[in-house]
Amino acid sequence: MSHAGVILGISDLEVEQVHRDREIKVYARPTKRPACIHCHHDRVRIKATRQRVLKHTRQGNQVLTLYLKAPKYHCPQCNRYFCHRFQGVLPRFRASEAFRLEVFEAHDGGVTQRKLSRTHGISPATVERWYQSQCRLRQSEMSNRPCPRVLGIDEHFFTRRRGYATSFVDLKNHKLYDVALGRSEPSLRRYLTGLSGRDQVQVVVMDLSETYRSIARRYFPQATIVADRFHVIRLVNQHFLNAWKDHDAEGRRNRGLLSLMRRHAWRLSDEQRANLARYLEDYPVLQAMYEAKQRLNRYLLLKTLNAKKAKQMLPGFLELLDQLSASPLKRLARTLESWLEPIVAMWRFSKSNGITEGFHNKMEMMSRRAYGFRNFENYRLRVLTHCGWNEIINRV
Ligand SMILES: [Zn+2]
Repeated sequence: MSHAGVILGISDLEVEQVHRDREIKVYARPTKRPACIHCHHDRVRIKATRQRVLKHTRQGNQVLTLYLKAPKYHCPQCNRYFCHRFQGVLPRFRASEAFRLEVFEAHDGGVTQRKLSRTHGISPATVERWYQSQCRLRQSEMSNRPCPRVLGIDEHFFTRRRGYATSFVDLKNHKLYDVALGRSEPSLRRYLTGLSGRDQVQVVVMDLSETYRSIARRYFPQATIVADRFHVIRLVNQHFLNAWKDHDAEGRRNRGLLSLMRRHAWRLSDEQRANLARYLEDYPVLQAMYEAKQRLNRYLLLKTLNAKKAKQMLPGFLELLDQLSASPLKRLARTLESWLEPIVAMWRFSKSNGITEGFHNKMEMMSRRAYGFRNFENYRLRVLTHCGWNEIINRV
């Protein structure tokens, strides 16, 4: 590659002139004739030469424009014509791929279309068009991925008109795998049936939703269903606080007490623990429920146990559920019993849907920044390019 080629990133180029005033103008021409693109005959003749004007990256705060001599060749062997092809420049484009990528990266990083149109000398509509085409390129690179082995499923709000969407997250690699509109089995059926490699999914993490459980059983037959720790503990707290309200509505309204009751006992200071004990002294039933809740939470926080250890823990947990079903928390006990397997499976793993919730946060921000999406496909495109893909494009 010539020096000029190394600097410009376009090989086999010979620089003839460089002008630098308000913009940088580089006049260049190809160093050698290519072989015929049709029959590979290597002695083609130049029929005519035209000038190609290309925007090509910014150098020192100025747009660099290439004025290339682009010959049109005639092949005497097959008697056909073709134009010179420059590396990193697509036929008929008026900007090099490097320049388009530069605009994409800047816009992706938050530079507005208006600003880019000034610094790069292109219209805002062009910025949008290039951005979209780069998004589509990224997405097509992702489209053939098999389903991840460790999958997180959760719902999130899309729009008031279209309702909820379901996100599928690769919990192992911390990437968004896909989003699909709807959160019920009929609305997801088409998407799920077409999913490649769903037999290979080993673990599915979900909140305590009956719909998602039946979806997982049906479409991911090999997978172990694991409950999401955060949701289970939140459920326990909700039930406990409701029972408290039935027991002593006055105390439940006390914000200080509420905060003490909600937290794990081992996170309280000695003084806080004493305060709580003083309150609970007057309500023996409530005290028993509180202690049961603490024991329950201890079980629910177990993780990465081996099979043997999990088996040892099981009888204690079952006994606790038995006790709960004879208390005001019997509805909670019933729910936990129906989700016993996913909860016990939770002990064996460390994965939770925390990553999924994080992506939901990010997706909400994207949606807000775009002042909401009407078209789900556009939303999906945007979300996938940002949460599902984080390689940096090196090819030019
Ligand atoms: Zn030819």
